Amino acid sequence: MMEQAMRNFFLFLSKNKPITKMAKKYGLQFGAARFVAGERINQAVEVIKELNKKNLCVTIDYLGEFIDNEREANEMADHCIEAIEAIAREGLDSQLSLKLTSMGLDLSDEIVMSNMRRILEAAERHDVFVTIDMEDYSRCGKTLEIFKQLKKEYDHIGTVIQAYLYRTEEDMKELDAYSPNLRLVKGAYKESAKVAFPEKKDVDENFKKIIKMHLLNGNYTAVATHDDVMIEYTKQLVKEHKIPKDQFEFQMLYGICTERQHELANEGYKMRVYVPYGTDWYGYFMRRLAERPANVAFIVKGIMKK
Ligand SMILES: Cc1cc2nc3c(=O)[nH]c(=O)nc-3n(C[C@H](O)[C@H](O)[C@H](O)COP(=O)(O)OP(=O)(O)OC[C@H]3O[C@@H](n4cnc5c(N)ncnc54)[C@H](O)[C@@H]3O)c2cc1C
Repeated sequence: MMEQAMRNFFLFLSKNKPITKMAKKYGLQFGAARFVAGERINQAVEVIKELNKKNLCVTIDYLGEFIDNEREANEMADHCIEAIEAIAREGLDSQLSLKLTSMGLDLSDEIVMSNMRRILEAAERHDVFVTIDMEDYSRCGKTLEIFKQLKKEYDHIGTVIQAYLYRTEEDMKELDAYSPNLRLVKGAYKESAKVAFPEKKDVDENFKKIIKMHLLNGNYTAVATHDDVMIEYTKQLVKEHKIPKDQFEFQMLYGICTERQHELANEGYKMRVYVPYGTDWYGYFMRRLAERPANVAFIVKGIMKK
């Protein structure tokens, strides 16, 4: 009960525009540095180099979401291209992740498509794979439509499917025609029971179902979770069905379950770490606190020590 209230509180804060502006201004304080690689690309590059040395590959994310003007959307796309160029220049083992609301999804089709094409052209030029993160339910249908359109034009593109949505199974059936490279997640936003399973056990069950569906269809599958039950389930499944190691990978967030990341990499699994950076870290940070209110205690301890 208390945990649910905390979760709702942090998810509410994650969408609060005045607080987001304030947070941007005052920099990476209050413990967000545990989850965010820095505000600038050169800081993120150093973090990625260290992860790569430890056999962990990466997907880098220039933080930003819910952009409401064209100039900022274009700048966000410029940052993504800068990240792609840094990956190529520094020879990093890294992909790119981005959110369509930061590319102008809420502004117009023209803006979001033009920014995405600019990014995907740079991505193809430098052989860097791009994943479109999935945002809240109200943008899910539009995001999938854009993904399908872009997938017809470019190879280096994938997207995300959220197990907590009722629509997910149907979406996956429709996407199958595109042989998509999908990241499968439980889902991080606050959604109503009209569109998403309210009970964790149902989300977990659906997560297992879509992992199986996607792997057995022969598509590339990124199982993005910190949940050991899901990781063990995937390991058993791939063993049972003799699914090759180059058809799937595990993904986790930077700063979360770090030891487990190393263990999986040492066991020979492909392990990708999602590394966010940039000044707009606030919404991302609040969602991480919402997932695990125990993180708040960790953050408070960190602040007291300063
Ligand atoms: C690489 C990656 C990319 C993602 N991309 C998206 C996306 O595009 N769209 C989207 O909606 N969601 C995305 N998510 C978030 C995802 O939907 C979940 O909210 C998040 O992963 C927590 O769920 P879980 O699968 O880890 O399982 P849970 O059942 O939530 O957690 C299982 C265990 O993992 C650990 N854990 C989980 N979260 C935390 C945390 N914040 N801090 C510390 N420990 C934690 C705890 O030990 C917990 O008991 C992404 C997640 C990952 C790993």
